[in-house]
Amino acid sequence: MQRIAFISVHGCPLAPLGARSAGGMNVYLRALAQGLGRLGFAVDIFTRAHGSDEPAINPLDDNVRIIHLDAGPAGAPKEELYLCLPGFLAGMKAFQVQHGLSYALLHTHYWLSGWVGQKLAREMGIPHVTTFHTLAEVKVRARAGEAEATPRSTTEREVTASADRVIVSTIHEQVALRQLYDGAREKIRVVPGGVDLEKFHPGNQRAARDRLGLNGHQTILYVGRLDPIKGVEVLVHTLAQLESRQEVQLLVVGGNQEDPEYQRLRDLRDAMALGDRVELLGSKTHDLMPAYYQAADVCVVPSYYESFGLVALEAMACGTPVVASRVPGLQSIVRDNRSGYLVPWHCPDAFADRLEVLLSNDALRHSMGQNARQAAVAMSWEATAQGIARVYAELGVSAPE
Ligand code: UDP
Repeated sequence: MQRIAFISVHGCPLAPLGARSAGGMNVYLRALAQGLGRLGFAVDIFTRAHGSDEPAINPLDDNVRIIHLDAGPAGAPKEELYLCLPGFLAGMKAFQVQHGLSYALLHTHYWLSGWVGQKLAREMGIPHVTTFHTLAEVKVRARAGEAEATPRSTTEREVTASADRVIVSTIHEQVALRQLYDGAREKIRVVPGGVDLEKFHPGNQRAARDRLGLNGHQTILYVGRLDPIKGVEVLVHTLAQLESRQEVQLLVVGGNQEDPEYQRLRDLRDAMALGDRVELLGSKTHDLMPAYYQAADVCVVPSYYESFGLVALEAMACGTPVVASRVPGLQSIVRDNRSGYLVPWHCPDAFADRLEVLLSNDALRHSMGQNARQAAVAMSWEATAQGIARVYAELGVSAPE
């Protein structure tokens, strides 16, 4: 069996989702590894230990394991994790020696892991595939003030130059990578992310609302980490703009009370006297997400930047139309006027305008929801895993027939 090592220094698939640093990438890693496992690969996901009482080896599925390595303090902030990279690299080498393992290919996720993978692949003489998930320069351009005090851009540039393949989720990211880091055209491959279509499917709205203890009022849903780049603030202002719809409520799923962004949103909500209409619910498990999407009338994704946007795809798979900002990742998922609306300006008027149209028209919402589900059906994790397996095959690494 071909053994693949995923490296994800900062994103453990076992971490609780929706907190500041665990979201789409964690879901992606788990689903992709499981998809590759079903194709016949053995996948070990190497990540940093995040608590002292965790086992080092955690089986996730028949062919998939999560390996926790001790590298730096468990609670180290993401901004300081690059200081832990030499320790992580040493830990990975020691693990392989201790367990007599050798890998056919390394697939690294995010720039921190790219740094480790580039060194390890060279030493081991095996192919290195990398997925950045987000690119520093694109993020900075999307929202000034998000600049990072780490060697991130330099590392992304080096890893792009040294990796055998760079996987991106969208054509836009492919173009950005080429322009920003002179990424060689022939090594970039576009493989979109996916959604678990058995878990995320349309359901009875009333039943979902009862299950979640919601009232019968029309509901706008936001799901995601609470980070300024997600642009959630605009939704609080938008709700205030929906003057003819005083009963509509906004549910915000994700984050927790310790997040500065949570506190900022709570203060804004209170200052605007929207306490009874904006509910900051904190993080919920991924298993509860289908119920939230089914309960909502519309899901809104107002991000300044998304390299892909799993939340939009999950909502669509549940037959819920999506109103999203017109940014590249979301443009690759939501089709304007078909599965929802893409809003070109990050301002409350523009979002309120589109929400007003959808909330006042049951038939439109229903038909857009159907279109959304139809579009999502083509984007399963199986398709993603097959796309990634094709990239591995180009490098001579294939699952047994
Ligand atoms: N999510 C969750 N619970 C929460 C908040 C988010 O399970 O409380 C999940 C959500 O369902 C989605 C992921 O976290 O699968 C967020 O992915 P997305 O790509 O939208 O955002 P990212 O975190 O990558 O910026």
